[in-house]
Amino acid sequence: MLDGKVALVTGAGRGIGKQIALTLAEKGATVIVNFNGSKEKAQETVQEIEAKGGKAQMYQCDVSDMTSCGEMIAELIKAYGRIDILVNNAGITRDNLLMRMSEEEFDEVIRVNLKGCFNTMKHVSRYMLKQKGGRIINISSVTGLIGNAGQANYCASKAGVIGLTKSAARELGSRGITVNAIAPGFIETEMTAVLSEKLKETMTEQTLLKRTGSAKEVAAVAAFLASEDASYITGQVISVDGGMAL
Ligand code: NAD
Repeated sequence: MLDGKVALVTGAGRGIGKQIALTLAEKGATVIVNFNGSKEKAQETVQEIEAKGGKAQMYQCDVSDMTSCGEMIAELIKAYGRIDILVNNAGITRDNLLMRMSEEEFDEVIRVNLKGCFNTMKHVSRYMLKQKGGRIINISSVTGLIGNAGQANYCASKAGVIGLTKSAARELGSRGITVNAIAPGFIETEMTAVLSEKLKETMTEQTLLKRTGSAKEVAAVAAFLASEDASYITGQVISVDGGMAL
């Protein structure tokens, strides 16, 4: 389904990003596993893809750094000649109540979660315009739609990703490039593993399906948006949240 396509997935060493990388590779794409911190984790993702007969390469780059993103994308274009799919998945949390939140906590989350998407989209779109086609998928969050106490920085960044997605969809649509966002709800990953059992229970209770989601359930939607089946979908935010934001 994605044979011959080249996909860049940011923050793909673990969690949702890793699962998206595995799923895109299973469907035939050559996947660039971007990572910032843990080289070992990224290596594991690449090895898992290769063990199943897929193609992957890892690439270290801090998505919050505009220059590094430009270099990464230029090098990938040199190596592969194209980038067909960009999945902006890298994200962080620095939770605190608004009154206690430091300027650093606010800035850091905006820099990685929101500016990180801008950095990669700015550079990739240049090549996708030349290719006259491409798929950009940004991982937002249910909290970008409905807010969350203790996460003003995170929710602002994820709401920003939605505005960025819609604007880019308007700018790039005439060249056959689709830009969509996924808004996951409560997904079991290392990011959510740190939450208290009480909070997990409350959040599960808020879903219509009365359960948490899996990275596989998010990755399936990313693979759909990257596929030919989603060729007439752009500028959308697809919730994968068990009905939490309804
Ligand atoms: P995670 O913490 O397991 O994974 C995030 C990945 O991003 C990590 O591999 C991390 O190293 C990488 N990363 C962080 N900063 C980076 C940087 N500057 N440059 C490159 N990579 C960087 O979290 P996850 O749960 O897998 O979340 C993945 C995405 O989904 C995030 O954007 C997150 O905000 C979003 N999301 C998660 C949930 C959830 O419930 N888990 C819900 C909604 C949205």
